[in-house]
Amino acid sequence: MRSYPELRPVRWDALAVLAVLALAAASALLLWRAPAETGAVTAVISADGEERERIDLTALSPTTITVESRGYTLHVLLSEEEVRVTESDCPTQDCVHTGAIHGSGQSIVCLPARVTVRLEGGAPADGPDLVIG
Ligand SMILES: [Zn+2]
Repeated sequence: MRSYPELRPVRWDALAVLAVLALAAASALLLWRAPAETGAVTAVISADGEERERIDLTALSPTTITVESRGYTLHVLLSEEEVRVTESDCPTQDCVHTGAIHGSGQSIVCLPARVTVRLEGGAPADGPDLVIG
């Protein structure tokens, strides 16, 4: 009575379920690990709508980059901790007054020079929000 031949297909089903579960777990693990592996924040400096520089901030010691656009010159200080426009000869000085940015998605814009400094990748500025369940 216990050895029904119909039990065999059931075992195969169980194997299939296990395989699907393993796949799901693997992909979930991949998805979950992805943010940690692409944790590097990249500063993207654009001028006049064109990308000029793309700098990985990981372990970057403070570096100043000069960006010239529309007759204006901006000095952008980049380091692992923050990015800021330290000096600019633009009339509004908004880019300088913006101060330091340090999180992905943040940006500094200089309207007169049409320069943008944008941070991409890594964790969002409000990092802890990522920890959900
Ligand atoms: Zn400016």
